Amino acid sequence: MNNNNSFLMYALKRSKNYLLNNLNYYYSGINSSKPNVFIFVFTKKCNFRCTHCDIWKEKNFGDEISLDDWKKAATNIFNWVGPFIASITGGEAFLRKDLFEFADFLKDKCIELKLNTNGSLINERIAKRLSKSPFKTFIFSLYSLSNHTNDKLRGIKGSYKKTLRAINLMNKYCEKYGFKKKMCIAVLITKYNLLELSKIVIWAKTMNVKVILQPLLKNFDTDFESDWIDRSKLWPNDRELIHQIFKEIIHMKKNGFPISNDISQLEMMKNYYLRNKEEVLKHKCKVGVDNITIYQDGNIKFCSLANNIGNIKNNSISKIWKSITAKEERQTLFDCKKDCRVHPCYYDKPLKAKINGFISEYKN
Ligand code: SF4
Ligand code: SF4
Repeated sequence: MNNNNSFLMYALKRSKNYLLNNLNYYYSGINSSKPNVFIFVFTKKCNFRCTHCDIWKEKNFGDEISLDDWKKAATNIFNWVGPFIASITGGEAFLRKDLFEFADFLKDKCIELKLNTNGSLINERIAKRLSKSPFKTFIFSLYSLSNHTNDKLRGIKGSYKKTLRAINLMNKYCEKYGFKKKMCIAVLITKYNLLELSKIVIWAKTMNVKVILQPLLKNFDTDFESDWIDRSKLWPNDRELIHQIFKEIIHMKKNGFPISNDISQLEMMKNYYLRNKEEVLKHKCKVGVDNITIYQDGNIKFCSLANNIGNIKNNSISKIWKSITAKEERQTLFDCKKDCRVHPCYYDKPLKAKINGFISEYKN
């Protein structure tokens, strides 16, 4: 079967899942379908010190599961759902030495393999290898085109230069070896870069990379506190500016600039930053329905704020997904009133945006 056919089969399967999910879950809170997207938190170790993240502050993550455990989990997923979308993330995934070996193992199991990285450890040798690897999509986190602002947000001097070097190297080697990869930058919106968002999008176009705008959430790996926004040093409070910037961004999106978020998500994000929570809650959260996260210690959760529903060392993912614990957790999340659904990983696109996404993936 050629790539186009397998993608078509995948799109049909995903559409069936989508319909089942909607019918079963959104109207009854019951889920009888299968997840489409698997997020692998390959390690929690990180060499950056981002202001909006507490992962790096943790001293003891416990034991990480072995490569064999990851392979077993991936085989289990493949036997259960067929080819799947996997997103490898961290921490910083390159801090595990077996990343390439895992990617090679996933080659025939994934319809799309994505890598989230801060890019700091990508040198000539690694870029060369990555350009030939099974990874199809690279998501580099880059928060500003100003050395100073980026480094301040990432907590590491020189981080801007390192991430930029990684993007340039990947472009260079993909072009040299003729491999077509999707390159993206994930830009976290804070009060320090709000004013330069459109400049970043214009720059991204010249670099042939897509921009994924990400909302500021409460610090990763901290407990949820309802007043975290009031205490945040990064939250933009200028409502007029928020209106103006999102108007510009939405205009750019409509005019074909490479912004990955769809328009309804951009509108939702604007409302999120304006703190119109009621508007945000009108959107569905796809957590518990469409995606599942496996952590570095083998624990499984529907989202970072949810409870553990099992561990891959004790059970198969399919059994965990269908378990009573998962069912109960889903019921709890079904009534969730938090607004972190605004994040691209959790936000459930309207059907029209999903179809457009499929078409553009199919064309690529
Ligand atoms: S946000 Fe990512 S890169 Fe930054 S410290 Fe946290 S895990 Fe590391
Ligand atoms: S809104 Fe946030 S906390 Fe609630 S289920 Fe979705 S991702 Fe989890």
